[in-house]
Amino acid sequence: MRSPATLSDIVTSFLDVVHDRLLADRRGDVADYIPELADAEPDRFGLALCGLNGRVYESGDTGVEFTIQSVSKAFVYSLALDDNGLNAVHTRVGAEPSGEAFNSVKLESSTGRPPNPMVNAGAIVTTALVNGADPEHRFERILDRLSAFAGRDLTVDESVFASERTSGDRNRALAYLMRSAGSLIAGVDETLDVYFRQCSVLVTSRDLAVMGATLANGGVNPLTGRRVTSAETCQHVMTIMATCGMYDYAGEWLLRAGLPAKSGVAGGLVAASPGEFGLGLYSPRLDHSGASVRAVVAAQQLAKRFGLHILHRPLTLSAAEVAAAADELDEGLGASQDAAAAQLLAENADDLAVWRLRGYIDFDGAERLLLDLDDWLESRPPERIAPAVIVLDLTEVTQLQSVAVWMLAALASWCGERGMRVIASDPQGRSLGVAGLSQFADFETAVQDAAESTTGDD
Ligand code: GLU
Repeated sequence: MRSPATLSDIVTSFLDVVHDRLLADRRGDVADYIPELADAEPDRFGLALCGLNGRVYESGDTGVEFTIQSVSKAFVYSLALDDNGLNAVHTRVGAEPSGEAFNSVKLESSTGRPPNPMVNAGAIVTTALVNGADPEHRFERILDRLSAFAGRDLTVDESVFASERTSGDRNRALAYLMRSAGSLIAGVDETLDVYFRQCSVLVTSRDLAVMGATLANGGVNPLTGRRVTSAETCQHVMTIMATCGMYDYAGEWLLRAGLPAKSGVAGGLVAASPGEFGLGLYSPRLDHSGASVRAVVAAQQLAKRFGLHILHRPLTLSAAEVAAAADELDEGLGASQDAAAAQLLAENADDLAVWRLRGYIDFDGAERLLLDLDDWLESRPPERIAPAVIVLDLTEVTQLQSVAVWMLAALASWCGERGMRVIASDPQGRSLGVAGLSQFADFETAVQDAAESTTGDD
């Protein structure tokens, strides 16, 4: 494992562990039913995580482009929803998991609707529901939407498009079937040209992480700050991803990973952890349901380790708050307010940092702490010889998620290796059992102890 250079690189090193362990997993086969996809380099593996503050952590081949394929369906569904509204879209396509493969030929018997927007039949209808004067305009709007989610201008792989168009008889058959059933009203060829083109848009796993983070962030791209769609649309999209995004593996996926996700047959996978981050993964060898073997295992390991299952949330959540305490101590606003602590902090401002954590601290809260502390360490005068001491006030923390405890442990050991100390104050006396982290029940004592160990060099 590469040693983290900054505190926030701790997240990258965690991705590295998952990435490196899975390199030996060579199960599955590269998709070949679209001839052009068979040329993919099977050992590629990229793993990216984008936090809601826009920081992207990357491990492996995160810059390698591949075609988005069915991952596009989730994002095009968002456009169809914005153009038509939820009810109008769902008179034409269902919202039920099919329990069948991505290309299954199964329409609802009473209405002729395809089961959901994530299987090919449903996605073809969704694509046809995107507004546009003609197919070119419709595709332009789709490409704009995918690009806005990714935060950069995406392009099309014309050879994959041509390959899929020539070999797409099954999708053509599905489209004709839906036209005769009345669920597809637009022309078959023009709709499929747009659909095949949308599947041939090139992305990287880094792009997918940003796209997932935009969903997780309620529709605002955390890199560009641009609102791409509404929070309500994101909620609808993530619901369909959670129930239908992984085809005939959707139920087991929800059971094991518990995150809204969408796979594509080129080996891409996007997952969104609402209010936390987006994940983008890529590795071309696929399992029987057409999802990347390594991406599925990696996402499941991350979800489990980070405690991310959407149904695992505690019932009473209070949002995480992470803030430098200097101003608050001066104002005497916190539960652990102390003029003496404010004084000590002011006297040792270059060496001593007091950070106050509040509410339910999960990955997102702990990540913010690491990023803030990186900034603080960076701002210290370079000539300082005295080691930095960090006090974390946990007085108003209602709950620490296991991943947050892990991140605090990594913070303590990172600091320890560099001669710095981390001290936690917690009147509830919750023992974190973290090596290298001194704990005090009393905030004032913690700050005093910290101030004493900043044996200044001046
Ligand atoms: N373009 C592919 C198809 O229509 C997408 C399938 C997938 O990625 O699951 O067959």
